Amino acid sequence: MNEPAAMNTAPTFRKILIANRGEIACRVIATCRRLGIATVAVYSDADRNARHVRLADEAIHIGPAAARDSYLRADVILDAARRSGAQAIHPGYGFLSENAEFADACAAAGITFIGPPASAIRAMGDKSAAKALMADAGVPLTPGYHGHQQDPGFLRGQADAIGYPVLIKASAGGGGKGMRKVERSEDFIDALASCQREASAAFGNPHVLVEKYIERPRHIEIQVFGDSHGDVVYLFERDCSVQRRHQKVLEEAPAPGMTEARRAAMGKAAVDAARAVGYVGAGTVEFIAGPDGGFWFMEMNTRLQVEHPVTEFITGTDLVEWQLRVAAGQPLPLRQEQLGIGGHAIEARLYAEDADRGFLPSTGTLRHLRLPAPSAHVRVDTGVEQGDSITPFYDPMIAKLIVWDVDRDAALARMRQALADCQVVGVTTNAGFLRRLLFTDSFAQARLDTALIEREQAALEAGTHVDEAAWPLAAVAAVASTPAAAADARDRQSPWQQQDGWRIGAAAPRVVHLQHGEQRHVLKVWTQPDGWQVQRDDQAMQQLNGTVADGLLTLQIDGQRRSVQVLPDGEQLHLFGRDGQRRFTLHDPVGESEQGVGDAGSLLAPMPGRIVATLVADGTVVKRGTPLLVLEAMKMEHTLQAPADGTVKGYRAKAGDQVGDGAVLVDFEAG
Ligand code: ADP
Ligand code: ADP
Ligand code: MG
Repeated sequence: MNEPAAMNTAPTFRKILIANRGEIACRVIATCRRLGIATVAVYSDADRNARHVRLADEAIHIGPAAARDSYLRADVILDAARRSGAQAIHPGYGFLSENAEFADACAAAGITFIGPPASAIRAMGDKSAAKALMADAGVPLTPGYHGHQQDPGFLRGQADAIGYPVLIKASAGGGGKGMRKVERSEDFIDALASCQREASAAFGNPHVLVEKYIERPRHIEIQVFGDSHGDVVYLFERDCSVQRRHQKVLEEAPAPGMTEARRAAMGKAAVDAARAVGYVGAGTVEFIAGPDGGFWFMEMNTRLQVEHPVTEFITGTDLVEWQLRVAAGQPLPLRQEQLGIGGHAIEARLYAEDADRGFLPSTGTLRHLRLPAPSAHVRVDTGVEQGDSITPFYDPMIAKLIVWDVDRDAALARMRQALADCQVVGVTTNAGFLRRLLFTDSFAQARLDTALIEREQAALEAGTHVDEAAWPLAAVAAVASTPAAAADARDRQSPWQQQDGWRIGAAAPRVVHLQHGEQRHVLKVWTQPDGWQVQRDDQAMQQLNGTVADGLLTLQIDGQRRSVQVLPDGEQLHLFGRDGQRRFTLHDPVGESEQGVGDAGSLLAPMPGRIVATLVADGTVVKRGTPLLVLEAMKMEHTLQAPADGTVKGYRAKAGDQVGDGAVLVDFEAG
């Protein structure tokens, strides 16, 4: 890895306020601490004891949990900055980071906004206007229409001329929202109307642009940096092609297969784009890249990006330090010719979400949390610690894992290990999904494009099955980690046991009903002096020698030594092994038979949210999996499906209703 370059030691700010939360707030605090800058955190009701509040030198309460009443309150945040004597505000990303009025208000209050000039935010904030500016600056653009005309017939004419498929995009859009791919002219008008509706609702502006949909594209973005002396450099590219619903899942730098010529051309185009709007500070110019080497401007993000750490790893820089220096009026720490690429870095976003249930966010308390140990190869950016909660109010990110090594294969191995080392109990995470993604042929062989996840769907789902050996391991874990196990262990020490030895049939087995995903098995476990005897369903007995101590279970299965850390959590049993975390559910068949059919007879809200649409009429007979309702929660729309074949008796909520966690949404009759 590159060593951080020797930096000018001139002071920047004495005290800054961080208008953000979570991992990015913690990450900014870390750099400030290193530079001797005091930090002021702000927090909502939901974040009273959040990690960023604990880490900062001071903390100021700014309002209720909902972001629009706290982290988006420019006036309250500015007031907090004034009261605390902060000289500058770091906006992080999201929230107020791309809000030109906020940047103006900071200037008016005599407080430095650590970001680009408000004029640059405005110029790039609207995708249509930005494309017009970029065309003038000679930056290559995706063919399309980005003018003022919004008449549906006219726009369809433009789409016909561009040639299908086309993409309709909300000019004010972001976060992968407000986009519709249209395959045929006859579908255009309906898609336009739905895109405009979504744009109005999400961004308060129905204006759209239409552009050529690039097939099998890659998303390659360039990190740029400008200073107030007119210099602009680029810190190379990041490949963010691995996406789900137009949102990044894995990011890496450098981009596999990048040639020096293409890198230089993209770097120049990005610097031209930045110069065209008088850019100062950290920014990212996003390009869509075709398989044949072509690349076209998509948009510029006028802030630090979530994935900036991969660039820091390969360039040996601290981009937050650069931001602070540039905001204080200092020149860029390095010139273009002093910048180089060393090794390869990959970032994965560890989210509290359930990949097996349509990526529904998962909220709850992190009752157990172990993240990989940081090292020269592994960086963990997080806003939470064990005992903290993932709430429905904000992005459900738990941590970003960033790894570095000399080349892509070595970095990939580091990331597989880092993900296997994550232990999270209390919420469901996407760690398993990410790890399966890292093992797909497409990712392993760097065949990257934005359709990678769809293409690898089969491989990504296959991972929900566990191998045969996991069942006896889990059954022994269940028996060895419950209170009765302690009694077993005591018995084993008794002189009577030792004299007599153990004979099969001499003791009753413990019966364990285990479920993993959709698979369910009944296992019988006999405790023996030197291990366990296990029978799964009606299969043959298995003799498993092994030990358990301090939650670490080691067994000989089929001549192989297997070790897992066991953590029981109510009815859940978590096993942490070399290949990651597995969660089994322990069933109590007696308790279940008493519950009756009532539970299957309704569809419950999996989290608090707002009903966007109900999808079928009352009385409709549906198949299991039929979409019944769209719920908007945590900035995403989630489709809830029929739990079984059956009949929709009636909806208990209508479009527009706010519903609480666990609320009954649909009365449903299975059968
Ligand atoms: P956002 O503001 O939501 O980030 P972008 O314009 O950056 O919107 O696009 C998000 C993603 O959508 C891109 O990363 C890419 O995967 C896809 N996308 C955007 N434009 C095109 C296009 N013209 N053709 C194909 N895919 C596109
Ligand atoms: P290796 O076989 O590569 O040496 P381990 O000894 O850690 O690795 O474990 C391998 C086997 O142990 C897996 O194939 C699986 O059967 C089981 N195993 C590992 N981790 C877990 C886990 N978290 N939960 C259940 N079973 C696991
Ligand atoms: Mg984008």
